[in-house]
Amino acid sequence: MAEKRDYYEVLGVEKTATDEEIKKAYRKLAMKYHPDHNPDNPEAEAKFKEAGEAYAVLSDKEKRAQYDQFGHAAFDQTAGGYGYGDSAGGFGFDVSDIFESFFGGFGGRRSSAGGARAGDDVRVVIDLTFEEAAFGCEKEVNVTKNVSCTACEGTGSESKTTTRCPNCGGRGTVNTARQTILGQIMSSSTCSRCNGSGKVVNDPCKACAGRGYVRKTVKVKVRIPAGIDNGQAISMNGMGEPGTNGGPAGNLLVSVRVRKHSVLKRDGFDVYVDKKISFVQASLGDTIKIPTLTGTVELTIPEGTQSGAVFKLRGLGIQKIQSSGKGDEFVTVTVETPKRLNSEQKEILKRFDAASGGTLESAAAGGQGDSGYGGKKIFGKKK
Ligand SMILES: [Zn+2]
Ligand SMILES: [Zn+2]
Repeated sequence: MAEKRDYYEVLGVEKTATDEEIKKAYRKLAMKYHPDHNPDNPEAEAKFKEAGEAYAVLSDKEKRAQYDQFGHAAFDQTAGGYGYGDSAGGFGFDVSDIFESFFGGFGGRRSSAGGARAGDDVRVVIDLTFEEAAFGCEKEVNVTKNVSCTACEGTGSESKTTTRCPNCGGRGTVNTARQTILGQIMSSSTCSRCNGSGKVVNDPCKACAGRGYVRKTVKVKVRIPAGIDNGQAISMNGMGEPGTNGGPAGNLLVSVRVRKHSVLKRDGFDVYVDKKISFVQASLGDTIKIPTLTGTVELTIPEGTQSGAVFKLRGLGIQKIQSSGKGDEFVTVTVETPKRLNSEQKEILKRFDAASGGTLESAAAGGQGDSGYGGKKIFGKKK
C-alpha cells in the first residue's frame, strides 16, 4: 500500500486551519474530484476518497486531536477502520456519505427538524453473460440523477453565498396558529420559502436556476462480484439521488440479469452439463472431453456406464459469493442408441447379441426380426 499522505496536506491547509477553512478546502476538492464529474477516472476517485477521509478526521474535534498527536497510527487499529476505500464487500462508496452529509447541509443532525429527507434510490438493470456472472467483472452503467451543480458548487447561488431565510429565521420550519373550537393549536411545518433548508439564495445560479443541482446522466462503474446470479442486485450506498436538507443520499440498486450459456446450466453455484456418448463408449469405457467454465477437461468414464449416470467434477463450478469455496460441475451422460445401421453393423450387433447369450426375442423365435406388428412411437401421448 502506498504511503498515506498527511491529512492537512491532502486538504491543502495549515495545521492551524480553522474548521471553516477545513470545510472550505474539502468542499473544493470534493467538487473537483467527485465521481459524478469524473467518470472513468480512478485517480480522481482515489483523490475523492482521500479528501473524504481527511475531512472526516479533521472535521471531528476528537479525531483531529488524536491525529495531531499520533498521526495515521491513531486510526490504523480502529476496529474495521473507517471503511473508506473499498470495503470488504468491494462495493459501497462510504465517502459519498461524507460528501452528501456535507453538501446536504452539514448540519443534517442539527437541523433535521427542518425537513431532512433521504434521497430516492435509483434502479438500473444490467445484462451479464454467464461467464461475467460466474467470474465477476466491472461494468459501467448510465445513471440519470440529480448531481451537485459545478458552477455554484451546489449552493444554488451565482456568488456561492446563501443568506438566512427571512421567512423562518433559518430554522427551516414555521409555526402557525389555528383557532379551533378547542382553542388555539400551534403546528409546525416546513418553511415554504426555503423548503426547509433555512437558507435562501438571492442571486440564483444561471446553470441550475438556483436549485444547486442539475439533472445529469453519469457513468458509474459497478464491480460485479464473482458468483452473482440472475435476479440478484448490488446496492451502492449513497450513489442514488442526493438527499435534501441534510438527508442522506439514496442508494444505487443494480439488478443483474444473467444470459443463458450455450451448454452449461446453473443451479446455485453448481454447473450442469449433458453429454451424449455412444453405447460403445458406455460399454467399453472412454476418456471424453467435457466443457467447463474454464475450458475443456477430460473425464474418464468406466466400462459399463449406464445411461443417466452422473459424474461430479469437484470444484469446477462457480465461485461462491462472499466465500472462498466453489461449486461443482455435474456431467449427466446419455447413451445414444444408434440410428440407421447399415447391414454390416446390424450383422455385427446380431453376432454380439448371440455371443452375449442372445436377447433378441425374434431371433430366438427363429423369426426375421422385422416381422410382427409395426410399432408406433407415441411420444408425448399419455396412456
Ligand atoms: Zn448552480
Ligand atoms: Zn425558510
